[in-house]
Amino acid sequence: MNIVDIITKKKNNEELSYEELDFAFNGYLDKDVADYQMSALLMAITINGLSLDETINLTDIFIKSGDVYSFKKKVADKHSTGGIGDTTTLVAMPIVAACGVAVAKMSGRGLGFTGGTIDKLEAIPGFEVEMDKDDFYEQIKEIGIAICSQSDKIVPLDKAIYSLRDVTGTTESLALIASSIISKKIACGASYIVIDIKVGNGALIKTQEEAEILSDWMVKIGKHFKRQIETIITPMDEPLADSIGNALEIIEAIEVLDGKKGKLYEVSIEIAAHILAMAKNISMKDAIILAQNAIKRGAAKKMFVRWIKAQRGILSALHVSDKVVYIRSKEEGTVEEISAINCGRLAMKLGAGRVKKNDEIDYSVGVKILKQIGDYVKERDILAELYVADYNFKLDEEDLNLFVIK
Ligand code: URA
Repeated sequence: MNIVDIITKKKNNEELSYEELDFAFNGYLDKDVADYQMSALLMAITINGLSLDETINLTDIFIKSGDVYSFKKKVADKHSTGGIGDTTTLVAMPIVAACGVAVAKMSGRGLGFTGGTIDKLEAIPGFEVEMDKDDFYEQIKEIGIAICSQSDKIVPLDKAIYSLRDVTGTTESLALIASSIISKKIACGASYIVIDIKVGNGALIKTQEEAEILSDWMVKIGKHFKRQIETIITPMDEPLADSIGNALEIIEAIEVLDGKKGKLYEVSIEIAAHILAMAKNISMKDAIILAQNAIKRGAAKKMFVRWIKAQRGILSALHVSDKVVYIRSKEEGTVEEISAINCGRLAMKLGAGRVKKNDEIDYSVGVKILKQIGDYVKERDILAELYVADYNFKLDEEDLNLFVIK
């Protein structure tokens, strides 16, 4: 077998066999296939797609690239296809754990202009994202929740491919998204899985039609691997939360756990309720009440604090830059749009995300939206705060184009 033949076959939109996918992807992991060759194959896949069978095969290859966990008790997991200000994991999963359903979750880093849970958690000084199998099992048994990063031992192939996709313009392939996400959920041993498919200008998936195809595929792939997968499709045209940036998003997640209402609260409750309905075999209506009560009672916040401490995070040391510049309105009128993608790009430019694979992230920077769609603003009103690393930071006029006011 030859990697150039495999790339050429996919370039010509032909179906790849299990053996060919295995040769290319495991060859990349073994360093027999070079970065530039895998980049070319990923691009051919992104342009021409994979069939459902190829995607199932790729998911299987991903899963088998490392350890596979299994639990005596059934555990829950959720995943988002990625958005801006999407901090639902940090709200929904403590709710689920506080309601007595164990959470075993592997999360990813930021991809393209979308944030990643692991980067956010690393904004908490001391927080350990890499856990070995014994510690992961022990923590779930002890407190009911553990969230770790994909390590070299679990789905190592996803770790390698994910960071390459991030910097080669190949993040948007439905087949690559499906195999990346489902392989992690299965390898991590989850029985109850909810996938939040984000759709809109600030998401990897731009249209409702693509979101529905992805949803259908994920459920089918789940069935193939005998796992219960439910999906929700939620909008991502405006940011899900007011904060975009790693430390800022942790702070906002805590505010929501303290009872702050809004889009982040709503979607987090929906995700938690789907898991609770599956795990407890109750109606969605009852599951929603259960999830809301976990916040009202303070149980979800208590669980969050316990979990962060268990992974050695020091919440009191969370740091947000003290250098703040403002985006002010140039006119009087009503806020009609807040562009999620422009917020994500701006946060990335400020240093909250990576442009190149090994770029360092600045956890303390980001964007805080102060006005909502429908708000009336006067000329020079502050629309957003930018937390910057340095006041001399150079931004272009178009970087600040976050709001449409009419
Ligand atoms: N999240 C993942 O884990 N993988 C993707 O491809 C996209 C979002």
